Amino acid sequence: MSEVIVVGGGAAGMMAAVAAAKQGAKVTLFEKNEKLGKKLFITGKGRCNLTNAADVETLLSNVVSNRKFLYSAFYSFDNTAVMEMVEEAGCPLKTERGDRVFPVSDHSSDVIKTFERILEKEGVQVRLNTCVRGIIIENGAAIGVRVLKKNSNHTASKVLPVRADAVIVCTGGVSYESTGSTGDGYRFAGESGHNIVKPKPSLVPFETKEKWVKDVMGLSLKNVSLCLKKDKKTIYEGFGEMLFTHFGISGPLVLTGSCYYDPERDGSIKAFIDLKPALSEEQLDKRLIRDFEENAGKNFINSLGGLLPKGLIPVVTEYSGISPDKKVHDLTREERKKLLEVLKHLELNITGTRGFDEAIITRGGVSVKDIDPGTMESKVIGNLYFAGEVLDLDAVTGGFNLQIAWSTGHAAGTAAGA
Ligand SMILES: Cc1cc2nc3c(=O)[nH]c(=O)nc-3n(C[C@H](O)[C@H](O)[C@H](O)COP(=O)(O)OP(=O)(O)OC[C@H]3O[C@@H](n4cnc5c(N)ncnc54)[C@H](O)[C@@H]3O)c2cc1C
Repeated sequence: MSEVIVVGGGAAGMMAAVAAAKQGAKVTLFEKNEKLGKKLFITGKGRCNLTNAADVETLLSNVVSNRKFLYSAFYSFDNTAVMEMVEEAGCPLKTERGDRVFPVSDHSSDVIKTFERILEKEGVQVRLNTCVRGIIIENGAAIGVRVLKKNSNHTASKVLPVRADAVIVCTGGVSYESTGSTGDGYRFAGESGHNIVKPKPSLVPFETKEKWVKDVMGLSLKNVSLCLKKDKKTIYEGFGEMLFTHFGISGPLVLTGSCYYDPERDGSIKAFIDLKPALSEEQLDKRLIRDFEENAGKNFINSLGGLLPKGLIPVVTEYSGISPDKKVHDLTREERKKLLEVLKHLELNITGTRGFDEAIITRGGVSVKDIDPGTMESKVIGNLYFAGEVLDLDAVTGGFNLQIAWSTGHAAGTAAGA
C-alpha cells in the first residue's frame, strides 16, 4: 500500500486526500491550523459558492490564467462530480443566479463538515496543528516531509521527518493570510527548483487617484458598465454592480476587472464608468432634454435627481464643468454634450490594487510549465504534486476558483495514490 502525504487542509488538500485514499493509499493530511478549511469557511460570504453549474467549456472560459492547463483536470473531475460527491455525503446543494452552487443550508460549515465525514469514511489520518516545514528530497524525488508538531499546550514543539511515497502540496496562495495561506508552498517549490510566477493580489479592489471617492464611500451603483483602459487598449469591459470605498472602487464588477489588470505590466490605468449603459448617447441626450424641460427654472445641480444617486450629483456636476447655479434652461448644447460625456464615461485614474489581505485570490504561483496537467506531478521532482491555488491558476468569481481546487486536487490525489 503506497503512503501519501497531503500538505494543507483546504479545498484542494481535502479533495486530494480523499482521491488518494479512494485509490487505496494510506493518506495523512497535515494542516497547520487547529481545524480544516479555514478559508473555505469564509467563501461566498460564509455561504460557500463551491462550484458553478455551467458546462465545462463555460467553466474553462471563466479561468483567467492558464486555462488550457486545466482541460484534462476539469474534464476528468468536473463540477457535476463535485456536486455528486458532496450531495451523496449528505449536503444538499442549490443553484442560484449565474449558475452559482451553494449548500441549501447557506452555511459553508456544512461543506467543511461534509468533507470531514468523507475523509473519515475513507480512512484519511488528519493531523491538525501540524505545520510542514519542508519537503525531503532524495535522488530527485520526494520521500517525505519535515513537520513541526505543536504540543497540545502549544508551549513546545519539535520537527520530525515523516516518510511517504508521494507528497501533494496544497498550501494555497498568500491572500487572507490569517486563514493559513502564507505562501509556504511557494518556498517548497522554489527550494526544489521550480519556477514561481510572481504572486499578485487578484479579485481585489482598486485604489484611485481621485480623493472624492471617499465622500461617496458606501455608495453602490447597480447596472453600470466598467471599462478599464491602458492608453487606447481596453483591458476589461463588463457590466454589473460596483461600490465606492474610502480608497477607490470595489464590488463584483471591479473585482472581476482586477483579474485582467497587472500592475507591473499596466501601471496606472483609467477606469470609465458608464452610468447609463442601457441608453445610447442619442437616447440619453433626449432624456436630458426632457428632464431639463421638466426642471426649467431650476439650478443645474438641482435638476439631476431623477438621473443620478444623490451622492454622485456634485461629482458629475464638477466633472461637467457646468456652473451648479446655472439655470437648466440656459444650458448650451455643448454643455449638455459635456454632461452626456461624463454620464457615459465617468473617468477615474487607477493607481494600483489593494493588498493580499483584501484579495480573494492570489494570481501567480508555481509555474504550470513545471507540472504535468494530467496528474499535477512535478516535472522537476518525482513523486511531488501540487494542487489548488498554490499553482499559477486563477479564475473570476462564481465558484470557478474552488472548482480549480477540486479538479486539480482530485487529479493529484488520484495519481499520487495509484
Ligand atoms: C473571502 C474569500 C471568499 C471566497 N469565496 C469564494 C467562493 O465563494 N467561491 C470560490 O470558488 N472561491 C472563493 N474564494 C477563493 C477560494 O477560497 C480559494 O481559491 C480556495 O480556497 C483555494 O483552495 P486551496 O485548497 O488551494 O487553498 P486554501 O484554501 O488556502 O488552503 C490551504 C491550506 O493549507 C494550509 N497550509 C498552508 N501552509 C501549510 C503548511 N506549511 N503546513 C500545513 N498546512 C499548511 C493552510 O492553513 C490552509 O488550510 C474565496 C476566497 C476568499 C479569500
